[in-house]
Amino acid sequence: MRTLPEWPPSEEPHDLSREEAQQFMLGVFDLGYGTASGEELAWQDFALCAETDPDIFFPEKGGSTTPATSVCSQCLVQAECLEYALSHDIRHGIWGGMSDNDRRRLSRERRRVSGLGA
Ligand code: SF4
Repeated sequence: MRTLPEWPPSEEPHDLSREEAQQFMLGVFDLGYGTASGEELAWQDFALCAETDPDIFFPEKGGSTTPATSVCSQCLVQAECLEYALSHDIRHGIWGGMSDNDRRRLSRERRRVSGLGA
């Protein structure tokens, strides 16, 4: 059975710097820093980004998100990836075709619609 990456050892994803989040993604997507696993992560076996340059998913501030979102738009597990990033409050990188700002907006909208506030 495959196991979750142990990196980072103690911090929650939302506490990570951009670089740390990138390392976390590399681990999650089994690009050399660890292995994905378990039912929650089974979708990652189909992650299209695992076949591309991982750097494009972490553009510099002001950089284009288009290369990454173009890959995501072709990815079979875009919805699962997005929900993973939202549920783990990952605040760096393109996940599920959305930037951190996009995901924050979506989370706010979901809270608003569900009556839990903005
Ligand atoms: S949606 Fe994008 S970031 Fe998520 S697994 Fe697919 S290609 Fe990777």
